[in-house]
Amino acid sequence: MTVDSILNGVVIDHITAGSGMRLFELLKLDRMDVTVALMKNVTSRKMGRKDIIKIDADIPIDLDVIGFVDPGATVNIIKNGELAEKKSIRLPDTLKGVLRCKNPRCIVTTEQELPQIFRLTDPAERVYRCVYCETKAQ
Ligand SMILES: [Zn+2]
Repeated sequence: MTVDSILNGVVIDHITAGSGMRLFELLKLDRMDVTVALMKNVTSRKMGRKDIIKIDADIPIDLDVIGFVDPGATVNIIKNGELAEKKSIRLPDTLKGVLRCKNPRCIVTTEQELPQIFRLTDPAERVYRCVYCETKAQ
């Protein structure tokens, strides 16, 4: 694929420079069998530098993950080579199955069947805490 022309897919733009790789990992794009490009430190008139992720496949994207990593990012859905839809991104109230609790004594660490859930506890500082033990997400 040429990174500029996507026929059907998703473009995550205006990612804060340096956050693209984390978003790439949390969206599990490294484990998906799709054509995907991560562009780092792209020159931007508005932002100076930014990261961009281009996915050349019509796959569902977890907007909560994008909102968690970078609520300022924009998501464009491309269909037949044209912009079909702009998704609005916001800070999610909860994150399910995205982060793992780092506390070894947390019930979610010992009870493997429990879902990993984090809740937004401080929107201004973008702090998320484990719903079981209150450990702060990193
Ligand atoms: Zn926990």
